Amino acid sequence: MARVVQKFGGSSLRDLSYIRRAAQIVARRWHSGDDVLVVVSAMGDRTDLLSSLALTAYKHSDDENAESDVLLSIGEQESASLMALSLQSLGLSARSFMGWQIPIETIGVHGKARVKRIGTSMLVDTLDHRGIAVCAGFQGLMVRGDRISTLGRGGSDTSAVLLAASIDAQLCEIFTDVEGVYTSDPRLVASARKLSSINYEEMLEIASLGGRVLETRAAAAAMRYKIPLHIRSTFSSNEGTEVGEGIMEERAVTALTHSESDAKIAVLGLDNQPGIASKIFGQLASNGISVDMIVQGMTQDEGKAHIAFTVLKTDISRACAALESIRESTPYQELRCDDNVIKLSLIGAGMNSSAGVAARMFTTLAEKGINIQIIATSEIKISVLISADYLELALRSLHGVFDLSNAVEDLKQ
Ligand code: ADP
Ligand code: ASP
Ligand code: MG
Repeated sequence: MARVVQKFGGSSLRDLSYIRRAAQIVARRWHSGDDVLVVVSAMGDRTDLLSSLALTAYKHSDDENAESDVLLSIGEQESASLMALSLQSLGLSARSFMGWQIPIETIGVHGKARVKRIGTSMLVDTLDHRGIAVCAGFQGLMVRGDRISTLGRGGSDTSAVLLAASIDAQLCEIFTDVEGVYTSDPRLVASARKLSSINYEEMLEIASLGGRVLETRAAAAAMRYKIPLHIRSTFSSNEGTEVGEGIMEERAVTALTHSESDAKIAVLGLDNQPGIASKIFGQLASNGISVDMIVQGMTQDEGKAHIAFTVLKTDISRACAALESIRESTPYQELRCDDNVIKLSLIGAGMNSSAGVAARMFTTLAEKGINIQIIATSEIKISVLISADYLELALRSLHGVFDLSNAVEDLKQ
């Protein structure tokens, strides 16, 4: 007998018939003798609807408003209740728990609160009496104890992994609308192949570089607390992808991801003096804007330099305003912004020990006439920024060249 967390995403809970199907999966697990804690997202695209309603009511894009969280958290209350009712109708003892009841205590700002502590006594008591605890994902309670908070979009994954850690679960199953983690987004690359197992580091890179099958903070939490994950489909009983520690040989290239969240800013014609980069990036940092990929180079013009970098699309107007405001003290000739870009990344835990991955990636893109605007690397990934017009061509070509669809299947140790 084990303690298991089962998380169902919005795409698995579109309407009541979907919720009933998910309840049957939970019931099967419970009947096998395991204790089950369920985490639910909101039904379908409910959170999108609530979010646009908040925007219409308030007329500003202010995700950090506490009242928006009150509204956004409704979605998970609805699905938790319907899941508990569906489980009861199968003859099981189940009750729902909202973030404030558990409580899942959070700190930070509304709209992207961080979990500080999770109270486990009611949950453990429910499980110990063979009841099923159905927890609303995505929501918590600010530590001051007076306001509902939400964890940021996709946050139910984080709720699930942290709840699994807090109750010492042996497994956290993430049920979604694809059969697991693929070598690339299966909706865009038809030859994408399901990976039967990957390690935490790769999962974290895949998540943070755009593979939205698992939220980035959830991948980081799973790695930190060593929670074994099984990412699998709600709609088939096939085995999905196991995420854990050292459960496979390290491949040079495991996956190819893309992210559409970035925008490029180029600051052209700066005086090429020591301290220029520190002024530009210092100004962005003091405005709370994170920068990802960076390239600095000389212009044809003697003594001039340019710096190009990426920020989140959602930060682009604030970033440009921040840079306009220092133009007198840090003169430059031109500021260019481009949000028609995507970031493509090759990820593989064995990349640092295999030569030539970068060269093959760049050659493949060059042969297709695709210009690389910025490059960034780490031990286990290479990312390039290219025009969004080439997304599908680049994904398919690279997927083919690295033979991701035919890679030797994972070798479990
Ligand atoms: P949920 O509603 O279950 O939270 P999401 O829509 O957040 O589901 O995540 C699942 C989606 O992630 C899939 O439908 C798929 O299109 C997308 N995805 C992107 N990259 C990958 C990948 N490498 N492997 C699997 N799915 C991916
Ligand atoms: N319902 C929330 C969202 O759509 C949380 C989640 O699905 O994980 O972002
Ligand atoms: Mg999701």
